[in-house]
Amino acid sequence: MSGRLEIILRLYSKNKSQRLKTYIAFTPLTKLSKEITMQSDKLSGTCACNQVIYELDDSGMYCQACHCLDCQRISGSSFIVNIWIEANRVHLLEGNTQQVIISAGRDQHTLTMCAHCNSCIWSRYHAAPGNTLFVKAGTLNPECQVAPRAHIFTRSKQDWMLLDETLPSFESFYDMKKLWPAKSLKRYQINIQESASI
Ligand SMILES: [Zn+2]
Ligand SMILES: [Zn+2]
Repeated sequence: MSGRLEIILRLYSKNKSQRLKTYIAFTPLTKLSKEITMQSDKLSGTCACNQVIYELDDSGMYCQACHCLDCQRISGSSFIVNIWIEANRVHLLEGNTQQVIISAGRDQHTLTMCAHCNSCIWSRYHAAPGNTLFVKAGTLNPECQVAPRAHIFTRSKQDWMLLDETLPSFESFYDMKKLWPAKSLKRYQINIQESASI
C-alpha cells in the first residue's frame, strides 16, 4: 500500500435490499479500472431481515435450479437456485447465523440460516466431496443475479411449472464431467485436494 491511499466506502441506499458498495481508490487510472474489474466479480446478499450480510468472491463453480422436495420445503416455494461455490469464497460480513441439520437420503444436509429471521442463506451437502456450499441465489442482492445453467431433480418438479427448454434438465442429478465447464471442474478438483490435506 506504500505511496497509495485507498479508501473503501460502503454506501447503503435507503432501500436496505439494495446495498451498494463503492470502492474508491486513489490510484493511477489504469490500475483503478483494473481493480474495479476485479471487484466486479464479487456478489453480495442478505437475509429477509437484513441482519445477515454476506459476500461471495465470484459466482461460483456452477449454478443450478433444484426442484427436489427438500428445496421446495426449505424455500416454501417451487425450487431453489443454488450457487455451488467453495466455502472459502463465501464470507459472512455481518449478522448471526444458526445451523439446522436435516437428512438428505443417507447423508446429512446442514442449513445455515439467519438467527433472527431464519432465512436459509446457504447449505452444505455432506455427500458432496470437498468443502463447498450451496448459496441460495434468492438471497443475493438484486444487482447480483446469477442464472441457473441447469434444472435438476425435475422428477419432483411442480406440475404447473414450465421449464426453459434451452437449459438442460435432469430427472435427478447429472454427470458433472459432461456438464460443467473445464474451469469449474478444475476449481472443484483443487477444492477437494485442498480440503483433503487440511
Ligand atoms: Zn435475517
Ligand atoms: Zn434440492
